[in-house]
Amino acid sequence: MIVTLTEGVDAGIVRDALAALGLWTSPFEGRRGSVQLFVHSHSGDVDRDALLSVPGVADVSEPASRHPRVDALSASVKIGDVVVGGDADPVLMAGPCSVESERGIHEAAERVARLGGRFLRGGAYKPRTSPYDFQGVGTTALRWLREAADAHELLVVTEALSENSVDAVAEVADLVQIGSRNMHNGALLDAAGRSGRPVLVKRGMAATVEEWLSAAEYCLAGGAPSVLFCERGIRSFDDRTRNLLDLGSVALLRHVHGLPVIVDPSHGLGRRDLIPALSRAAIAAGAAGLLIEVHPDPGHALSDGPQALTFDEIESLASDLFTPLSFAVPLTG
Ligand code: PEP
Ligand code: MN
Repeated sequence: MIVTLTEGVDAGIVRDALAALGLWTSPFEGRRGSVQLFVHSHSGDVDRDALLSVPGVADVSEPASRHPRVDALSASVKIGDVVVGGDADPVLMAGPCSVESERGIHEAAERVARLGGRFLRGGAYKPRTSPYDFQGVGTTALRWLREAADAHELLVVTEALSENSVDAVAEVADLVQIGSRNMHNGALLDAAGRSGRPVLVKRGMAATVEEWLSAAEYCLAGGAPSVLFCERGIRSFDDRTRNLLDLGSVALLRHVHGLPVIVDPSHGLGRRDLIPALSRAAIAAGAAGLLIEVHPDPGHALSDGPQALTFDEIESLASDLFTPLSFAVPLTG
């Protein structure tokens, strides 16, 4: 239930009164600056009349959804000087899976900028399935990434892997990435929100769309100025591609929810040969942009080599896709 408080009433006193009824409350700002509370009971239905009888409660309603802040978002976000979503042209975010060396990330930045990319990607901290795999260079790589991006007027998107690293990441990132494995990590989502940076919320590999929207709600409730969604494929029974790239969710977010969503075909497919085809499909489905892994020598990449495009491959994809947008479908959302 949602409770709207009488104007000017002390919200703490009302929350105490509701707590005395065994109810959990969580405040948020409602329309026209009113204070509202999410009211939740673990032990049964919340009685509407009981709520209305609490002094300071002006109104009681059913919530339209569990993510009011997400529902209030607009179809586009502005990050730095780049608009992502809405009627803006699709945006390319590209770079290596992990930031491996200073020279390598500078080379990547130069190439990404040259082909019209606006964001440089690259992980300083890598979420790996095995603890014995390359875990990323760490903090030093954050500095390399920022310097390389600055040298070529690119924005930075990079992953915060844990609450410990959020502040260091937020210091260099224009867009803080929450990885698929962490989409359910409420404490990290909250910390990313508190960093004050826009957050890129990658879909968990077994997350429903509703859970994905709630993950973004965590970031916004924590204080994030904006969020951007990223579809990166979900687990399926078939292992011919690394994941099942769910373009249905992209159309749903864009055309039904009116939200900005980008697509990561690299993790979605796990193989470079299919990335151009699915990149086109993603834009046609309503993606506001693409997040693509690229490496000068994929055979020697320290992570995700099989899905990395070479610079020449991404150049031909970008020239094909980002000018002019013959595949874009008129947006209805
Ligand atoms: C990444 O983009 O570097 C990454 C690890 O992706 P995901 O969290 O989608 O697996
Ligand atoms: Mn990767």
